[in-house]
Amino acid sequence: MLDQTPKEIVVREGLCVNPLKTCQPVGALYAALGVSRCLPHSHGSQGCVSYHRTLLTRHFKEPAMASSSSFTEGASVFGGGANLKQSVKNIFDVYDPDVIAVHTTCLSETIGDDLNSFIQELDLPDGKIVVHCNTPSYVGSHVTGFGQMVAGFIRYLAQKDAPKIDKIGLFPGFVNPGDIRELKRLLALMNVTAIILPDPSFALDGPMTGTYKMFPPGGTPIADIVALGGVKKVLALGLLASKEPALTIKSRCGVETELLPLPMGVAGTDAFLLKLKELSSQPVPPELELERGRLIDLLLDSHQYFYQKKVAIFGDPDTVVGLVAMALEMGLTPKYVATGTPGEAFVVEAKALFAAHHEPLDGVRIKAGADLFELHQWIKNEPVDLLIGTSYGKQIAKAEDVPMVRAGFPILDRYGHAYHPLIGYPGTRRLAELALGALMDRYDRDCADEDLDVVM
Ligand code: SF4
Repeated sequence: MLDQTPKEIVVREGLCVNPLKTCQPVGALYAALGVSRCLPHSHGSQGCVSYHRTLLTRHFKEPAMASSSSFTEGASVFGGGANLKQSVKNIFDVYDPDVIAVHTTCLSETIGDDLNSFIQELDLPDGKIVVHCNTPSYVGSHVTGFGQMVAGFIRYLAQKDAPKIDKIGLFPGFVNPGDIRELKRLLALMNVTAIILPDPSFALDGPMTGTYKMFPPGGTPIADIVALGGVKKVLALGLLASKEPALTIKSRCGVETELLPLPMGVAGTDAFLLKLKELSSQPVPPELELERGRLIDLLLDSHQYFYQKKVAIFGDPDTVVGLVAMALEMGLTPKYVATGTPGEAFVVEAKALFAAHHEPLDGVRIKAGADLFELHQWIKNEPVDLLIGTSYGKQIAKAEDVPMVRAGFPILDRYGHAYHPLIGYPGTRRLAELALGALMDRYDRDCADEDLDVVM
């Protein structure tokens, strides 16, 4: 279906074809689902929230709940204050969450709705909370929207003079529930107690119980967000997704904060564990050393199949940077590295990884604010052996007959992916297995009958 994509690349400005990102409220909604008994609320028209919920539901295969201010022509002309007031009353009356997390949309931002004033004027039931963040979608992406919502919770709830506690704060970044579970496992093994904000690891990967719960157990408790102001230190993972929350907790509560890449790949996981070791003053347990050793063994065993294989990696900036780190460790050659989220920090980070691995940048294309049309054109001009990225790359994979491994957000055409971590040693192990499988399947498909060996 992409057969008509031209090979000739023309410089485009102001036109995005087949975007490599989605809008800020998607991330804001996801972040809000990671707070206990919270209902995300979209301040805009019903069409927006319908799309946001659908995308999250299709990725996680779980219902992503959210309400809407349901703008029509009247609110679009006179402002959405009355709609928000009515919505908040209805939501607390009917669904009874503890907190409503409001995010704006293009429409409410364009007409200039002042959410701070609207929320201050609300007459809330006792003990109920409304927080908000601004997420116009003509800037940033779902990744920045995620960060804005986490920062919104901190702005409204984290207490500057909260009692000091023997815990750290952990902002996990825009990752899957499987990654959150892996983070919790690493924290437990390293004997570090943390407040994780947000924690969508139950809301979006809960078990089938036969009973629907509007607010599943899990999620970051409100009391923990209040207590964040008293933690020893905050580790903020994901240089883009967690930048805003990190700045906010530092400026609001004066908490020492460190912004780190997602702990993906061997070196990335090592660095994260060393950070936890520093905080707990305890050695890394043998269990993790063994796990690391097994991963290194796998990477050595499979290196012959990865060596000099060219790969295109695309998706969200923090995830793509982690995937590039993994690919370089596996011996793959990342040829094209693209994210739709704007921001040159991504390019700097990706280039630094090449430098750390002594990999030349000749012929390598790294771009923030890219789209899939452009990525396809690069591939048409110089093909790759493998694609690693979101489901939106599958048409390119088909058009160019390139094997593909799905990783990142969103993955809409597969099941079970959100349970598996991409972070930690298990994340690299999984990516290596998937990539190896994809390359070997392709070899088996294309090789001569006499070369079709059962032993590889
Ligand atoms: S109008 Fe804006 S907020 Fe709504 S779906 Fe479109 S990009 Fe997203």
